[in-house]
Amino acid sequence: MSADELSRALRAGEVTSVMVTQAHLDRIAAVDGAVHAFLHVAAEEALATARDVDARRAAGEELHPLAGVPIAVKDVVVTKGLPTTAGSRILEGWVPPYDATLVERLKAAGMPILGKTNMDEFAMGSSTEHSAYGNTHNPWDLDRIPGGSGGGSAAAVAAYEAPLAIGTDTGGSIRQPGAVTGTVGVKPTYGGVSRYGLIALASSLDQAGPVTRTVLDSALLHEVIGGHDRRDSTSLPEPLPDLVGAARLGSSGDLTGVRVGVVHELNGDGYQPGVRARFEESLELLRGAGAEVVEVSCPHFEYALAAYYLILPSEASSNLAKFDGMRFGLRVVPTDGPATAERVMGATRGAGFGDEVKRRIILGTYALSAGYYDAYYGSAQKVRTLIQRDFEAAFEQADVLVSPTAPTTAFKLGEKLDDPLAMYLNDVATIPANLAGVPGMSVPNGVSDDGLPVGFQILAPARADDRLYRVGAALEALLERGWGAPLLSRAPELPTAPLTEGTAR
Ligand code: GLN
Repeated sequence: MSADELSRALRAGEVTSVMVTQAHLDRIAAVDGAVHAFLHVAAEEALATARDVDARRAAGEELHPLAGVPIAVKDVVVTKGLPTTAGSRILEGWVPPYDATLVERLKAAGMPILGKTNMDEFAMGSSTEHSAYGNTHNPWDLDRIPGGSGGGSAAAVAAYEAPLAIGTDTGGSIRQPGAVTGTVGVKPTYGGVSRYGLIALASSLDQAGPVTRTVLDSALLHEVIGGHDRRDSTSLPEPLPDLVGAARLGSSGDLTGVRVGVVHELNGDGYQPGVRARFEESLELLRGAGAEVVEVSCPHFEYALAAYYLILPSEASSNLAKFDGMRFGLRVVPTDGPATAERVMGATRGAGFGDEVKRRIILGTYALSAGYYDAYYGSAQKVRTLIQRDFEAAFEQADVLVSPTAPTTAFKLGEKLDDPLAMYLNDVATIPANLAGVPGMSVPNGVSDDGLPVGFQILAPARADDRLYRVGAALEALLERGWGAPLLSRAPELPTAPLTEGTAR
């Protein structure tokens, strides 16, 4: 069931939260040995929350609509009392003493937390292969990547191990995993969801958001986690637009008068033929629903990837300086000489960080160094402004912009692991939104010739997240009525492989 369906069944008294939560824990126990979406399963805590919600409901208490609906949380979000590693060896064994704001909000709504999901180390990657704790497998084909960095959240939802999950998106880590696993993923407007308690990758780009199987479920979850937080200085002061209302409006399948801009630069060479074919068919559906489809040009998007890979490593090199063997998690004391603070830090960081993290720290430190700062970081920031202006101009011609979410379907595990540049190219279509702070959504829009899921990306102006939900829900409804994606109702067939003892879970 979707979260919305579970919410109705819970409110009607047809099921209890303990039943729903246990069913998902059973599914995790049955398939997560094969999928490995979870780094930690919090069965006891989740069931305790479920029991509490059931008791309060039985006592006639007025509860949040999602009360009792369980959720999985990406391991980059701090959770009081539950291990939080961000996929890194350097945080192994660290148990945070506080909850992120969004976790507080999940708990306040009465949502049982099933556990923490796997991810690329510190959210750097597009395949989850950079996790220090092993690969997550795409439920559609276990030999393939689930996307990244939030592959665990996407795989958990695609494999029906959780109805909902939380992801974070710095350059595409919610949307690209959504595309390759056939799930819905939303990156809210920058500042729309509090970053308090997210382990920062690049603070000017990071946003947390929903990972779900339906557009309406994303809207429901987005409304739980979003809105102002005084503990995040970049949090937007105004209330969220009516997201659930927009999703319900869109599900009628009527888009009369909505202007949809196809971004010329995000749909051409390098996109797999099946991805382009599904994109064209989806555009046709939107046209049929009354949308006015126009082509827009964003000439500076060509430089988005290059600017991102200067800005992100620069911010990451600074944010990751706090992992020094003194404050959190791992500490490695060298035995071959004096254990000075500097040598302990060096040994800890050497052992605790993986290759991709080291690569980006080195790159960022270089880009920020005195002699190169203007040439690299300064130039990248100027490009960022040009990209923002491209968006502003495009949003004068269109209410939403669209493109394929990712250039290809899920690739094979190992295929791009030794080629960082090939890995970075997965995010060409998602990165511009992070650089400009605008919201984006990926909606599953069918399967490619290889039988694997494809995603349709929708972008809206900052603070107009409701437009994503209207257009996304319309597309979803049109797909179900048309040639169709029984995608959402098709639970991937998975071998049952029990969880193994002695892993991080
Ligand atoms: N794949 C991109 C990167 O490696 C995006 C990561 C993210 O959104 N966290 O940086």
